[in-house]
Amino acid sequence: MNAPVPSPMRRGACPGLSAPMATGDGLLARLMPSGATIALPAFRGLCDAAARHGNGIIEITSRGSIQVRGLTAASAGPFAADVAALGIPAAEGIPVLPDPLSDLDDLSVIDAGVIAGELRRALAASALASKLPAKVSVIVDGGGALHLDDVVADVRLRAVRTDQGVRVHVGLGGTAASAMSIGAVALHCAVECAVHLLDLLAAFSPQRMRNAVEDAGAARFISAMAGILEPASTPAARPAADPVGVHALRSGAVVGVALPFGHSGAENLSRLIGEVECAGAAGVRTAPGRALLFVNLRPAAADAFAARAATLGFIADPADPRRKVIACAGAPICASGQIPARALAPAVAQAVRAANVVGPVHVSGCAKGCAHQVPVPLAIFGRAGACDIHWNGKLVSSVNADALAVQLERLLPEEVSR
Ligand code: SF4
Repeated sequence: MNAPVPSPMRRGACPGLSAPMATGDGLLARLMPSGATIALPAFRGLCDAAARHGNGIIEITSRGSIQVRGLTAASAGPFAADVAALGIPAAEGIPVLPDPLSDLDDLSVIDAGVIAGELRRALAASALASKLPAKVSVIVDGGGALHLDDVVADVRLRAVRTDQGVRVHVGLGGTAASAMSIGAVALHCAVECAVHLLDLLAAFSPQRMRNAVEDAGAARFISAMAGILEPASTPAARPAADPVGVHALRSGAVVGVALPFGHSGAENLSRLIGEVECAGAAGVRTAPGRALLFVNLRPAAADAFAARAATLGFIADPADPRRKVIACAGAPICASGQIPARALAPAVAQAVRAANVVGPVHVSGCAKGCAHQVPVPLAIFGRAGACDIHWNGKLVSSVNADALAVQLERLLPEEVSR
C-alpha cells in the first residue's frame, strides 16, 4: 500500500485511515467503528499499531470515533495496512451512528445497528457522500438507555412505541432538544426517509440541516416526505445518558470507561484490555462521550474491573470531575492551538470540582471550539497565547496559561455564588 498523501488541515475535515490529516503532532488517522463489537485482540492490535507507527496517543472522540496521532508520511500507509488486517468492524462514508447498546438493551425498541447498516448500504449506493460535507451525520436511536439525545446530527431517527406499532420519529439538525421535529415514519420507511432528507440537503448551501431548515423552513422537508411521513409529537425528553459505569444487561454486564479528556497512551489501553480479558469480556465498543464499553463481562467481575480501570487512570465513575471537562488537544498537538488545552484540563477539573460548577466545562485551544459546539456555563478559549475565561457567555477574565488554575480558584466561587 502506498503511503497516503497528507491533506492540508482544515476545520471540519474528517481524516480517515487512507487519508490522514496533518496536525501539529504529525498525521492523524480516524477510524469510525460501525457499532459492532470489536474483538479484544483486534483492539489490542490497534494499540500496538498506534505505538509502532504513531506517537502512541489514541483518542476516542465525542462521537465515538477512534483517532491515532503522530503518524508520518512513511508510517501512515503501513499503519492503515496493519489496521485493515485486524478486521475491526468500521464504517465509511456519511457517518451513521446507532446507539451503542441497542442490540443488548431490553429497553430498546429496535436494534438500531440493523437500520444503521441498511442506511449505510443505501448511502454507499448513492453519490451523496461526495455531495455533502464530511461533518454531515445521521443518528439512529433504538430507544435504549444509552440514547443519543445529546449528540448533534443533521438527521435524527428515534424508534418509539406507539398505539399503531413501532414508529421512527424524525428530527432535523441539532440535539434531540434543539432539532426540528417533522413527524414519524414506519420502521420500513426509515432508510428511505433518511436518504431522501440528505438528498434534499445536498441542494442547500451551507449543507447543514440546521441552516437549511432555518432558510427554507421545515415545511419544505415535510412536503417532500408526503406519503411516508405521519404527524407525530416530539418524543419525551429522557434522563441524561452516561456510558461510564457498570450497566447490568440481559447478556451480562457492560462496563463503560472513559478516557481522561478523550485520550490515552496505547500501552495503558493495552493494559486495560488485559484486565478486561481476565473479567471475561467478549469485546469492546466505542461510545459517544469519549468512552469504551466493554461488553458481556461476568457480572461478578464487573465492579472489580471498573476499580482496576480507575487504578490505571481511566474514568470508571460517572461522578469523576474529569468527566465534566471537555478539552480539545490544543497547542502544540493541534497547529491552530493558542493554549495547551489538553494539558490545562486536569487543573481546570480540580478547580471546577472545588467550586462545584454545574454542567460541562469547555477548554478550547482556539476560538473554533471543535470539541464542543453547545454553549456551556464555563468556557475557556485560547487567544493569542492567553486563556479567555467566559462565564455564562460573558468574558470575565483573560490570563496566561500559567496563571489559569489560580485565576479559576479565585473566580469560580464568586461566579457560582452570584
Ligand atoms: S479548537 Fe482545538 S482542536 Fe480545534 S482547531 Fe482550535 S486548537 Fe485545534
